[in-house]
Amino acid sequence: MKTFLVLGAGTAGIMMARKMSRVLDAKQWKVIVVDKNEQHFYQPGFLFIPFGYYKKDDVVKPIRSFVAKGVEYVVAEVEQLEPAENRVTLANGRVINYDYLVVATGTDIHPEETEGLKDGGWRQNIFDFYTYEGAAALAPAISNFNGGRFVVNVVENPIKCPVAPLEFIFLADAYFTRKGIRDKVDIIFATPLPGAFTKPVASATLGKILERKHIHVEAEFNAGMVDSSRNVLASYDEREIPYDLMVSIPLNKGASFLGAAGIGDELNYVRVDKETLQSTDYENIWALGDAANIPASKAGAVIHFQMEKAFKNILQHMAGQPMTHHFDGHALCYIETGFEKATLIDFDYTHEPLRGKYPVPVVGPFDLLGETTINHWGKLAFRYIYYLMMHGIEVPLPSDFSMAGKKP
Ligand SMILES: Cc1cc2nc3c(=O)[nH]c(=O)nc-3n(C[C@H](O)[C@H](O)[C@H](O)COP(=O)(O)OP(=O)(O)OC[C@H]3O[C@@H](n4cnc5c(N)ncnc54)[C@H](O)[C@@H]3O)c2cc1C
Repeated sequence: MKTFLVLGAGTAGIMMARKMSRVLDAKQWKVIVVDKNEQHFYQPGFLFIPFGYYKKDDVVKPIRSFVAKGVEYVVAEVEQLEPAENRVTLANGRVINYDYLVVATGTDIHPEETEGLKDGGWRQNIFDFYTYEGAAALAPAISNFNGGRFVVNVVENPIKCPVAPLEFIFLADAYFTRKGIRDKVDIIFATPLPGAFTKPVASATLGKILERKHIHVEAEFNAGMVDSSRNVLASYDEREIPYDLMVSIPLNKGASFLGAAGIGDELNYVRVDKETLQSTDYENIWALGDAANIPASKAGAVIHFQMEKAFKNILQHMAGQPMTHHFDGHALCYIETGFEKATLIDFDYTHEPLRGKYPVPVVGPFDLLGETTINHWGKLAFRYIYYLMMHGIEVPLPSDFSMAGKKP
């Protein structure tokens, strides 16, 4: 009996395990998925928790409810991976030998890596919204906030969903406006980037929205430490930003066992070929989703686009054929801009976000780089589509980026 092992039962792991269990002969293969958690988090929904728009039930579901029939689901932390031995050891002592391995352990926040970030102010007047616990703890702090300096800081890139901090700021602006206290709140976005976002056209569009909403951008700010006794965030170049309430997006890193196994980079992201998603070190290992060190956005939509490519490549590899499916880095992100509007960006490894319509060229209904209510409904609909996909319903959106209907 051969083993197809998937580490991580999140967005990517659940989908890959199901796809494999559907096509592999159950007399010859067992498919196993391992996760340290029993709960699955719909992470895009964390954005809405601090403002009271989503509740726990909207974003937290049992992993078991998504695991396909025929897949063995093991609840345990992965402690060690020995890729040269094709072996994984779990924290409960179980050893799993595999023939093929897919790493889908995602990325997580590490506030402890920034001096002072987890000292006195953590979950008092410093919060995150990249975990369910952080987003839930932030909700009362936002609702009790009556004015002062509201600082949102990205400690270091890459982070998952790189537009989420901007969306959070836009929603905060709308929330404080509706509460009638916007004129008492200074909103400051401290980012290591030179502007609002990485891609020039999108950065200019998003920068204009920030300007219109009177949000101050502290650019090229590399956070070095937090002094919670003075409520000050300081950069390595010794700029200081005082805060009354701070929302931090701490350093994001992959699972530590990947670095220890020698297949991860300095942030524990698995080194893979950016098109085939196969490990550059071991030919029976693939990495998907946030766990991979590809230069694409770490986002659920990206997983949807890369899944089919990786799946077909693995099957070709199993059959001893050359791999012919190339992931182009396609990413599609709805960006909430507040007051029931959103914008949308569509790009890949080589094309930056451009104006146009999506998914039907010229027709839409979604407006690329425009700010519309329909885009906002697209963002909200994403949750239902996501859960359908997690239950194995295929969504017929083409994986590859297309220039059709785009205006360069
Ligand atoms: C605030 C926020 C907003 C976002 N908004 C969007 C959006 O609008 N659109 C979008 O497309 N994407 C968005 N994303 C990103 C999206 O949620 C992630 O990219 C996606 O869920 C990653 O899926 P994954 O399978 O790679 O990892 P995950 O879904 O995070 O799964 C990783 C799994 O691995 C498990 N694991 C980790 N380490 C171990 C270990 N050692 N042993 C065992 N198990 C382990 C974890 O428990 C987890 O279940 C957002 C993310 C956040 C945080």
